[in-house]
Amino acid sequence: MKRYGAEEMNTISKSTCISCHYTKPRDEMRQRSFSEKSGHSVGLAGNVGGMIKQGGVMKARPGNKRGSARINYRTKKQWICNECWKGRPRWITTLLKTTIFGPLYVPAYKGMEGISKVLYTITLGYFVIGWVKDICLAFLGGLRNADGLPNSRIF
Ligand SMILES: [Zn+2]
Repeated sequence: MKRYGAEEMNTISKSTCISCHYTKPRDEMRQRSFSEKSGHSVGLAGNVGGMIKQGGVMKARPGNKRGSARINYRTKKQWICNECWKGRPRWITTLLKTTIFGPLYVPAYKGMEGISKVLYTITLGYFVIGWVKDICLAFLGGLRNADGLPNSRIF
């Protein structure tokens, strides 16, 4: 008879749930990819040109200047326990609330903070564009809440 000792129990890796923050064995969890903000980058890239001799005449060489400002997102695989996964937002509720109460509901749902939350509300979801985008995401079951969980629960 095979005995299952403590050593074998330890072979199941554990991870911290992204939602409830409890550490649980991975066979009670599932792995999902979440995107997280990894920082902002603002830069001025490219060379500024210079002088070039062309046909005996000095000419300014066109430089290529490029300003850029962007927010970088990286996708990370993270673990979520089965219980939290079962409790993810309902598709129909989220879709209805996003459609009807969008500018009021979405910032709370997403867990937005500070100025972006206020802006989302007073600009009606960044001039309706963001609101429409969020309705589409909710319709596709991909609107993520503050924990990064999508509204893909049907029942
Ligand atoms: Zn959990």
